[in-house]
Amino acid sequence: METTLENLMFKGVPAASGIAIGRPWVYHPQKVHIVRRTVSDVETELARFEAAKQTAMQQLVGLQEKAHAEIGHHEAAIFEAHQMFLDDPELIKAITSRVSQQRICAEAAVDEAVQEAAAELAAVEDEYFQARAIDLQDVGRRLVHLLLGIDTEVKDFPDEPVIVFAEDLTPSDTVQFDRSKLLALVTVQGGPTSHTAILANSMGIPAIVSAPVDLSAVEHSELGVVDGRTGEVLLDPSADRLKALQAEQTRLQAKRAAAKARSQETATTTDGHQVEVVANIGNAQDALQALEYGAEGVGLFRTEFLFLDRHAMPTEFEQTNAYREIFDVMRGKPVVVRTLDIGGDKSVDYLGFKTEANPFLGWRAIRMMSERPDLLLSQFRALLKAGVETDLRIMVPMVSRLTEVEQARALLRVAQEELAAEGVPFCQTLQFGIMIEVPSAVLVADHIAPLVDFFSIGTNDLTQYTMAVDRTNERVVNIASPFHPSVLRLIKLTIDAAHAQGKWVGVCGEFAGDPLAVPLLLGMGLDEFSMSPVSVPEVKDLIRRFSIEECEDVASRALRLPKTEAVRAYLQSIVSAKQ
Ligand code: PEP
Ligand code: MG
Repeated sequence: METTLENLMFKGVPAASGIAIGRPWVYHPQKVHIVRRTVSDVETELARFEAAKQTAMQQLVGLQEKAHAEIGHHEAAIFEAHQMFLDDPELIKAITSRVSQQRICAEAAVDEAVQEAAAELAAVEDEYFQARAIDLQDVGRRLVHLLLGIDTEVKDFPDEPVIVFAEDLTPSDTVQFDRSKLLALVTVQGGPTSHTAILANSMGIPAIVSAPVDLSAVEHSELGVVDGRTGEVLLDPSADRLKALQAEQTRLQAKRAAAKARSQETATTTDGHQVEVVANIGNAQDALQALEYGAEGVGLFRTEFLFLDRHAMPTEFEQTNAYREIFDVMRGKPVVVRTLDIGGDKSVDYLGFKTEANPFLGWRAIRMMSERPDLLLSQFRALLKAGVETDLRIMVPMVSRLTEVEQARALLRVAQEELAAEGVPFCQTLQFGIMIEVPSAVLVADHIAPLVDFFSIGTNDLTQYTMAVDRTNERVVNIASPFHPSVLRLIKLTIDAAHAQGKWVGVCGEFAGDPLAVPLLLGMGLDEFSMSPVSVPEVKDLIRRFSIEECEDVASRALRLPKTEAVRAYLQSIVSAKQ
């Protein structure tokens, strides 16, 4: 007999795909009660703060190393950013002046100063700053725990595989979980680009965020099921439901394993067309993962990691070393490097950014070139030097006019001439391209094509700029889709304009890794698909199931449909029939 608790279901936002079935475990971070004590001895209180700060710094260095060894560069970088918060002179001043002027205890001073600074960050309508607010609070919590002598270690993590449920998860929490026992992550808060989502994707486990889950109901459940494809969380499912989900889980796992087993083979259609499947990376760790998952090269190397979370420009020497590290990993395979794409949702102090009403329409990426040609020049020089033995391709982001392409090419020529004059060896086989992310560039693509070797379509931004939807604004983000007919038409125009002049075209936005887009893009004649490394096996597997001829028919039908929903439904029927 089934009990009434069975089949309790919640639906959140899918953040990482897959199905997990297992015991639910609710993580409760320790709550602290801070008393705002008045202190008589200010010097002793300041010394207490200084000691806590030093211990926190040691802990963060340790966590950075642990994250680097066990998880990856991205997680490690989070703890590096925490160290910078801890060292931030403004934050330290806000804390110490509270202690010395208001004569309050260090824990209350830390809490107040951190909450104030975090509230300012959180108020910015921008996901990047909101995520920084969470990081800052994480640092504040660490300091307060140390000042109060409270142990932050997660001691009760179960000894068996579990689905972790939590109100929210900070990097300091998750780094302490035993990774071999993590089946899935479910949080009540957080968006699809939160830390939880990034972690789950890099580990290949399902995750659901913004789940309206009653954590006390979870405490009383024996079994949980998480479907990362739909966002569904099921507690104590009925025997029939469980059996069906187990069968689906087994099917998905077998499919993934089969695709992974063949991931090093080429992606050739049934009528013999070989398609290039490459990866999007942000660091050397990703490059290794790309090779492991069968990527044939890199279609988008985002270079921002070198420039973010620091106080000064990386030197040309530093850049050359960082690029060489990645090229060495890729061992002569093609690597498309995107020059600095900063501005929009990412900003750094040392480049002289000003507050803008519409940063996505503002001083971003290639637009910085006229005021700061030195940035692009040093990047070109470093890339050319590091890429002597690489099939190097460089592209510039956010191009909206032909003039920008002419200017970037002229600057590239300066870099090449300088290096030749200096007698420094540099890459002689370079291809130069641009990202297609702005509709105006699509509409003059025939004028731009003679100046480039290739186009790479950034569908994330192309969708944002075509549909006038800020990609970080959760309130309107559901309006936008790369499957919208407007975006599809722009993609087709771009491919046709390039092919008419013998140039190749890739897609490096998320769209390229979406199985539904595969037959459509193949039918439009796309030459290169670039995606996050974990998507490579599945996309290759799907390419092998289609012929170009049938895809051409799919594309021409899809291009005639009027709405996103109609396009998706049609493509779903085509892709499902192949699986
Ligand atoms: C894009 O816009 O599609 C893209 C790949 O660039 P990013 O997501 O880094 O802006
Ligand atoms: Mg972009």
